Amino acid sequence: MLVLIANLGSTSFKYRLYRMESTGQEVLAKGGYERVTDYAAVIEDALATLTKDGVIASADEIDAVGFKTVLGKDLSGCVLADDACVKALEDFAAVAPAHNPPYANGIRQFAQSLPNAKLVALFETAFYQWVPEARSTYALPQSWRDAGIRRYGFHGASHKFVAERSAELLGRDEVAAGTAALYQQGPAAITGKPLRVVSCHLGGSSSVTGILNGVAIGTSMGFSPQSGLPQNNRVGDLDSGAIPYAMKTLGLTLEEAERQLTKDSGLLGLSGVSNDIRDINEASQAGNANATLAIDHLIDSIRHWVGAFAWQMGGLDALVFTAGIGENGRELRAAVCAGLEEFGLVLDEQRNAACRAVEAELQADHSRVKVFVIPANEELVLAREVYRKISSLS
Ligand code: ADP
Repeated sequence: MLVLIANLGSTSFKYRLYRMESTGQEVLAKGGYERVTDYAAVIEDALATLTKDGVIASADEIDAVGFKTVLGKDLSGCVLADDACVKALEDFAAVAPAHNPPYANGIRQFAQSLPNAKLVALFETAFYQWVPEARSTYALPQSWRDAGIRRYGFHGASHKFVAERSAELLGRDEVAAGTAALYQQGPAAITGKPLRVVSCHLGGSSSVTGILNGVAIGTSMGFSPQSGLPQNNRVGDLDSGAIPYAMKTLGLTLEEAERQLTKDSGLLGLSGVSNDIRDINEASQAGNANATLAIDHLIDSIRHWVGAFAWQMGGLDALVFTAGIGENGRELRAAVCAGLEEFGLVLDEQRNAACRAVEAELQADHSRVKVFVIPANEELVLAREVYRKISSLS
């Protein structure tokens, strides 16, 4: 089965073509476009390139297209990307303005360009469907809750990959298999000793997720991707009282307050330097106190959420770092793991310093808790889910 994974950003389009078999998969091609203004044109160009390069004889050979959609109103899981799915994305466009409109448009475009292919959406919220209600609910009046305001959770494909891979690395293949089949079969049966993992997806956008026996039990992200850890230029968690107060005292309109919280905040807002942790590190080393504060705030938030989930799960077997900062930020990893000897977590300094963007174990030999770097592979999770979905239809 040929599965095209379409990654649609607000101004970018990236793709990967997989050949999926029951025994495994192979990446046949990948490519992408930046500064996109005409999605129809780049999708046609990508299909033409795959044909011209001889990867496929014709675009008709593509059996399915997978979309990593963020969140939809009253819709989650791994579903056919049909009109109902597009409507669910559009109905929540205001909650994820950078993500939902490009996906709604992209799905429509692919339906035209590849009329015979099956279109499948895997919602980033899907991994959180088994989070206990007490943890996914905000203490709001019924009318707000009826409007869909609750904790959803994002980066689901990335954290699911970590859940599967960490279980394999810990020799718990039955948990890995249960996690792999999660959306078809529901939560893996909890057998034997619990497996407690906390996954830190730290990139342009970041979240921390607690995973018990391969199933998410909670996450730092809330109603929108505008929550939890400080993001590159989005605020992260903020007291709801701050917004009306800032509007009144700073004379901001709601639109301007929203713009500042989504564009001028997070690591950029705190550091005043950049939204990229590499620039912020450099400025911090040169003595910029705001840059140091931004880094310290990020580290503090990560430790806060790791601690929360380790406590909820009654302990920790593995702490995992993934995505751009998690895979490359050795100083940040060291700071997140500092002073946890009491909890049985001891980082090996040399292993940590040597690890850059490759799968690795970073704990000291005598550390009870494992510390892994697992490079992000959201596309693979998506390709596998599309394959399972299509196979279950036939
Ligand atoms: P996203 O997909 O959410 O945009 P990525 O997972 O690609 O994010 O991560 C991007 C971030 O990773 C960058 O903003 C940068 O801060 C960080 N990053 C990338 N490379 C390095 C590196 N070598 N050292 C430290 N941080 C890095």
